[in-house]
Amino acid sequence: MVLTKVFCFKCGSPREEFELLCNTCNSPFIIRVSGPYEKKTQDNFDYIEKPLFPMDLRTPLIKTDLFSAKLEYFNPTLSYKDRGMNTLFSFLREKKYITKGEQVSEDSSGNAGASFALFSKMLDLKPTVFASKSANANKLKQIESYGSKIKKIEGSRKDVEDSARNSGMKYLGHQYWPEFYDGFRAISYEIFEQMEKLPDNILIPFSTGTLYLGIFEGFSHLLQNGLIESMPALWALQPERASGMYNMLNNIAREPSSSIADALTGVLPLRHTLLSSIIKTYGRCETLTEDEIIQGKKDLAKVGIDCEYSSAITYSALRKFNLNKNSLLILTGHGIKNI
Ligand SMILES: [Zn+2]
Repeated sequence: MVLTKVFCFKCGSPREEFELLCNTCNSPFIIRVSGPYEKKTQDNFDYIEKPLFPMDLRTPLIKTDLFSAKLEYFNPTLSYKDRGMNTLFSFLREKKYITKGEQVSEDSSGNAGASFALFSKMLDLKPTVFASKSANANKLKQIESYGSKIKKIEGSRKDVEDSARNSGMKYLGHQYWPEFYDGFRAISYEIFEQMEKLPDNILIPFSTGTLYLGIFEGFSHLLQNGLIESMPALWALQPERASGMYNMLNNIAREPSSSIADALTGVLPLRHTLLSSIIKTYGRCETLTEDEIIQGKKDLAKVGIDCEYSSAITYSALRKFNLNKNSLLILTGHGIKNI
């Protein structure tokens, strides 16, 4: 039987209740999975008895002459974030941490906020999303359309987070909960089930690293079970303007600024030490310029793919680094978010 364990990445202490950071050393928690891989997706998540939304999503995986692509915008709010919100909200509901009518808060640059608002609606919560003044207007409209309030905050990404945390509402910041990023394990399982041969490269848009970490854990689980021979190369892709992880790996001092790829914020990820070691062992972190990202989106439209800039960065990287067609793009959000 599959078993997951939540513990502090730094000192190994288990999470005692629902604290966001370790009581001993104030570091973030991670989640690890062990035991046999189960064919039915949901059975690989021992902390969920009944998911709010079906977990056997099977988003399309298409092959073109140049690459393969996993269309993660085939999710309820048109972005992959729903996978993580589904596992997180299902867990919190089953543990009775959140209850009907409760006021909850979240900080987001857009897609996570939309997903947070929809899942809050499913549970009759009263959500407020804290967003920066420069947030994408379409995404804010989408958040409101699910009945969530929005509070625009002037200042840095950290200021937005602090406002959400100190709002007096129950703070459900998705970054902190390992049950959020754990939802992305399912993407790896689906890739394994949908492809005859695993890709050489998986190209992943990288912001706070939760998607990257979830995909890594999924393939690690398959590897533990002897179902795959090796880990595909996992590429972490950031806009040059918003590249906290890249800067840390390369000792570059550069403040993040906003990119056309608005879902990619470029702050240093919460679990940056762990991510840094995974990237050094199994992948690469690279940056793309604004022009390269814009061109990537245009080129994808020519083959019938309409994704947001933050996803098109994967195709920009495929071109820039001349990767072979046995490469898989993770297309995280639909193009309608950038109209
Ligand atoms: Zn600790």
